[in-house]
Amino acid sequence: MLFSTGATAGVRFQRRGLMLVLSSPSGAGKTTISRRLLELEPELVMSVSVTTRPPRPGEVDGVDYFFVDGATFDRMVEQREFLEHAVVYGHRYGTPRKAVEQALAAGRDVLFDIDWQGAQQLREAAADDVVTVFILAPSLAVLEERLRRRAQDSEDVVRYRLAQVAADVTHWAEYEYVIVNAELEASVAAVRAILAAERLKRRRQPYLSEFVQQFRVPLAEPPRSEAG
Ligand code: 5GP
Repeated sequence: MLFSTGATAGVRFQRRGLMLVLSSPSGAGKTTISRRLLELEPELVMSVSVTTRPPRPGEVDGVDYFFVDGATFDRMVEQREFLEHAVVYGHRYGTPRKAVEQALAAGRDVLFDIDWQGAQQLREAAADDVVTVFILAPSLAVLEERLRRRAQDSEDVVRYRLAQVAADVTHWAEYEYVIVNAELEASVAAVRAILAAERLKRRRQPYLSEFVQQFRVPLAEPPRSEAG
């Protein structure tokens, strides 16, 4: 049998890509999960955001973020170059529109590491294409430890971000999926399961109405032996 586990299992069609939004308060492990997903999912590309935040040591312009000044960010807002933008932890962040639209049209899925404000805006702009996942740390103690271990931010920043966590967590119920990130590989597997199921949603397989035409064979009388 050609199709054993689903209409499209093992058969490649051009489909419309989806927008996978991962949000979480700092320190829940979202960045590590994103990196691992990108290694494992060849059809998934990362949306690289624009920010006015200064680069941290080791961050590369054009890879981690596009680092810009406030005037450049303003100009990009005016010229409607962002799909969404927001102020997060005192800095401005935005998702460039063009790269996302090109990836989706090519049937790629796009991964977004953006906050709840960005998730809300994307949902409003493209509800059918957006899949939202909220990542929680397993406990406040673990969260705090992760933030400190990161050590790239000053103690003031760590304390400020911890204070933001309580506010950020209140947005968990706005998301379709919620993962408590106790163990990296289990969380990655959970996101991949979400991705696999969402890719098979009927509306994401627009070619199906044409595809099923081949099964429309004319009605026939049952053979004598089966007719009883
Ligand atoms: P960080 O400065 O630690 O890289 O990111 C801080 C926060 O900003 C994270 O919660 C991250 O998800 C969020 N963020 C990063 N890029 C964007 C973006 O383009 N739009 C929005 N709304 N949030 C973003």
